[in-house]
Amino acid sequence: MKVAFVIGHNKNSKGAYSKELGFSEWDYWNDFYINELCNLGELFNHSLSSSYTSRQKAMADITKYYDLVFELHFNAGSSSANGVEALIYSGNNKMKIISGLYCKLMNEKLSLKNRGCKEKSSGNGFGFLKHTKGDAILLEPFFGSNKSDCKKYKHKEHALIIEEVINKYKQL
Ligand SMILES: [Zn+2]
Repeated sequence: MKVAFVIGHNKNSKGAYSKELGFSEWDYWNDFYINELCNLGELFNHSLSSSYTSRQKAMADITKYYDLVFELHFNAGSSSANGVEALIYSGNNKMKIISGLYCKLMNEKLSLKNRGCKEKSSGNGFGFLKHTKGDAILLEPFFGSNKSDCKKYKHKEHALIIEEVINKYKQL
């Protein structure tokens, strides 16, 4: 089974920046991949194209031979917004199980509020989910804008949770 990890955003536009943690989404996940995920799947970075749709189409063409494709982010919002969520293509029952498990484990092991699986048919993140041919999931593990989330978050535990989720996928 082949797993792809796609880092959200790109080198020129690195996504949200967490003042609490001192890194952007793009920098964070590239480091996280090298330190924690490199044995679980392959890493892909989006092109520098400023068009979200053309980036997603180009990436989908690269990842189409992978069974399970992650896009990696963290959330940002008002200082009170908090918790974990995972986005999937609406109606994909297999990914519903996987995203539900991911959020449940993040809640149980890191005490992050479980915002649950978000089944998307439009809006933020949908381009990735729509164009990716394999089973796709977009992770939003915590809010980089929320003090309490940033305190609770532990990357080692998070890596183990991602591994557990991949193992579950293999059994489905
Ligand atoms: Zn993002």
